[in-house]
Amino acid sequence: MNGYTHMVVGGLCGGIPVAFSIAERKLGFSIGSHILYPIIGLFPAVLGALGPDVDMPNSKAGKKVRRVLIASIIISVPLLFFFYRDNVRDNAYLFSLIFLALCCISLFVFKARHRQVTHCGLLMVMLFLPNIYIARFIQASPLIDSVLSAWLGFCFGWFSHLVLDTLNPKGVPWLYPFSSRYFRFAKIGAGTKDESVFRTFCIVFFVIAYLAIIIFRSNIASTLF
Ligand SMILES: [Zn+2]
Repeated sequence: MNGYTHMVVGGLCGGIPVAFSIAERKLGFSIGSHILYPIIGLFPAVLGALGPDVDMPNSKAGKKVRRVLIASIIISVPLLFFFYRDNVRDNAYLFSLIFLALCCISLFVFKARHRQVTHCGLLMVMLFLPNIYIARFIQASPLIDSVLSAWLGFCFGWFSHLVLDTLNPKGVPWLYPFSSRYFRFAKIGAGTKDESVFRTFCIVFFVIAYLAIIIFRSNIASTLF
C-alpha cells in the first residue's frame, strides 16, 4: 500500500474512538486513574500509520517520519532541561526522558532493511509497552493523559499499517526475528487500481461504522428506544 492509503486508513481507525466520544458526548474515557482523549489520538494515528515505512528513506512516508523523529528529539531535549530546572521531576521529566530515549532508539531504523524490523510484531509490542507503563505507574495529569492518548493513537496507526501491508503481495514478517516468514492474506499491489478500490471500500466501511456507533451508542438512541 502507498503512503496515502496508510494515512487514510490510520486516520479512519483513529476515528473509531472519536465516534464513541461523539456518541457518548464525552471528551475522554477513564482508564484507571487516567483519561483517554480520542481526539488527541487522531493525528498521531495518521502519523503512526506512516511510521513503519521509515525504513524507506526516499519514500514520502519515510521522509516525513524521519523529520518528525528528528523534530521530536530536538524538542524533547530542551523540554528535559525545562522540567528538570523547574523540579517537576516526577511525571513530566520522566516522560520527557522516556520519550527522548525512545526517539534515540528509533534512530536505528534509519539503517533498517525495508519490511523487516519496522514491520514486525515485536517492535509493535515494544511500542505499545510504554502505554502500559504510563497507565499503571505514572500519576494522571492533563499532560500525561494527553501523551497517553497521543501515543495510543500512534500505536493503533502503526498497527493499521502492518495489517494493510499484510494484504500486500510481499506481506509482513510478523514474527521477525524469530521467524523470517512473510505473512500475507491478499495480493493488493501498491499503487494499483485494486488499492484505490480497497481504499474506497475502507472509507465507506468506516463511515458506516461511525454512523452505527453514533446511532446505537448515543444517549439519544437510548432514550428513544
Ligand atoms: Zn510498510
